[in-house]
Amino acid sequence: MTEEQTKQEESKIEEFQFQAEMSQLLDLITHSLYTHREIFLRELISNSSDALNKLHFTSLTNADVLGDDAELKIEIDLNEEEKTFSIHDNGVGMTRDEFIANLGTIASSGTGKFIKQMTGDSKTDLDLIGQFGVGFYAVFMVADEVTVDSRSYESEEGFRWISKGTGSYTIEPIELKKRGTKISFKFKEDAEEFAGKWRIESTIKKYSDFVSFPINLNSEKTNQSTALWAKSKDDVKEEEYKEFYKYISNSTNEPLSWLHLSVEAPVQFNSILFIPEEPDKFQMTNDLDTRLHLYVKRIFIQNDCKELIPQWLRFVKGVVDSEDLNLNISREVTQKNVVMEKINKYLVRKLLGEFKDWSEKEKERFEKFWRDFGYFFKEGIHTDFANREKLIELYRCESSFEADKLTSLADYVQRMGTDQEEIYYVYGKNRTAIENSPNLEYFKKNKIEVLYLFDEIDDFIMPSIATYKEKPLVGIDKADLKLKDEKEADEKQEQLKDTDKKKILGYFKDILGDRVEDVIESKRLVDSACTLVSPKDSMNANMERMMKMMDQEFKGGKRVMEVNLNNPLVQHLSAIQQKFPQDPLLKDCIEQLFEGASLLEGTLEDPSELVPRTTSLMEKAAGLYLKSLED
Ligand code: ADP
Repeated sequence: MTEEQTKQEESKIEEFQFQAEMSQLLDLITHSLYTHREIFLRELISNSSDALNKLHFTSLTNADVLGDDAELKIEIDLNEEEKTFSIHDNGVGMTRDEFIANLGTIASSGTGKFIKQMTGDSKTDLDLIGQFGVGFYAVFMVADEVTVDSRSYESEEGFRWISKGTGSYTIEPIELKKRGTKISFKFKEDAEEFAGKWRIESTIKKYSDFVSFPINLNSEKTNQSTALWAKSKDDVKEEEYKEFYKYISNSTNEPLSWLHLSVEAPVQFNSILFIPEEPDKFQMTNDLDTRLHLYVKRIFIQNDCKELIPQWLRFVKGVVDSEDLNLNISREVTQKNVVMEKINKYLVRKLLGEFKDWSEKEKERFEKFWRDFGYFFKEGIHTDFANREKLIELYRCESSFEADKLTSLADYVQRMGTDQEEIYYVYGKNRTAIENSPNLEYFKKNKIEVLYLFDEIDDFIMPSIATYKEKPLVGIDKADLKLKDEKEADEKQEQLKDTDKKKILGYFKDILGDRVEDVIESKRLVDSACTLVSPKDSMNANMERMMKMMDQEFKGGKRVMEVNLNNPLVQHLSAIQQKFPQDPLLKDCIEQLFEGASLLEGTLEDPSELVPRTTSLMEKAAGLYLKSLED
């Protein structure tokens, strides 16, 4: 090339100044921003993907725009030795004017908003960058000088844009055979860590795995490229959903079910929600983790995005991808974002609708699901006030009505006798433990259905539901149960005289002292001699046990002892009391009855006296028994 020609070429190079705020921004990026620098790649890929999308969209009405370059893709070339990098797409490209408008001014969305809020104080501004991201300019975090070659799909001319990210940039015409954009640079010295194939590949996988166009790194395809959620439901095979579930849940299991949503209003988003086959045990105890990932326009934004779904639905796994969010949305912004709130509400509504459907049309499936995941719903009843009513309708538990089957509150109420005013429940370790409880005797005898709760959380839930269809929910171990049917009991058995009743109950009280709140005659016991119940307005036994577990110092409220005055043992004790008021057997038996009842309900703290006393009572009994045999 002669000197003359060089001059001519140079004369075609035009120099432009960045807008003042832009220079300020670029200065911040190049000199102060060092965290998460790998996002430069996410931003470049996102821009390429946008450019490809725009071209694809245009091609729908005008196939000619594709020309002989119809395979839309992103090519990344990395030279690990030279530390150079380029990213190329065959998307819409840019004209000279577009170069100036898009890469020289602050017209672009994310960057524009950011600059408007810039304060001039570099610390505050750095925080802001974290929130908005800076799009294309992020590349200046890792490069000293950047070259952009581009040819618009609507033009024959190509242009080269070069900038050092300081005050100015240049634009010159260059010959480009094909449309599209190529951005190239050499990594600056302190960013050479990014010049590794593994590093680039893992960054692509992290942020851009589902970009809908292939991303080739040194000619090898690195991304999955199919965003299943962006496809129409009819185009996705069952197998594909299952594979995708395995991928996002990092497991080999299949999902129990899924929902594929394409929503236009009130916000535009696509989502696939998976219900796992089994709950993750860790998630039960850890209420922090969600398993929904946030994408914006197919670009990965955030793992485990809490704002997308209420905490109690944290077992749901999947993705949400919205067109209505900014790519640079940050954690701070997601928290107060209206779009996020709308998505959240929509997802809950859909999921609750789905569960309701199962509960009505696929009862067995719902029962199994409830046994596995009921815990989360109970948490929801406690925390999600907006959806409480719907959740209460889904609530299931076992009951005395039918062994091993679950019932809803609605079904229970339907079976209730006309004169039954309350819904009864009892907590116990399992069905057998509950059915052996003396407190259940009255209900068995009178054929009143009782809900059986095996889950400790149920004992919190029932008082929190409080009433259902105007019927109060009442634990059967409460002292103030409105029990009827006294008469029948009266007639059946030989009764103690009123004075003897008082005497024996008074004796129980003397012996037990302040270990009990009171000793009263029982109306609920049929066979057993005695039981412990909670005084009105107090915690139930299960709740107290839990409080004790959490707080060693916690002293539970005292219990009321109910004594069955029709029980033969109690009647014998009364007879002994009348004839030999000071006999030590009375004390032993009362102690034994109290400790036995405490043991049954799980509140006996120290069994060290119970065992020797039992042995001593048995010794006496065996002696008498032997005598009776010999007589
Ligand atoms: P944003 O993507 O938020 O609009 P950027 O700063 O990343 O902001 O990009 C500014 C603009 O430059 C884009 O809106 C687009 O018009 C243009 N641009 C960037 N990269 C490309 C590309 N690969 N192909 C075509 N145009 C591009």
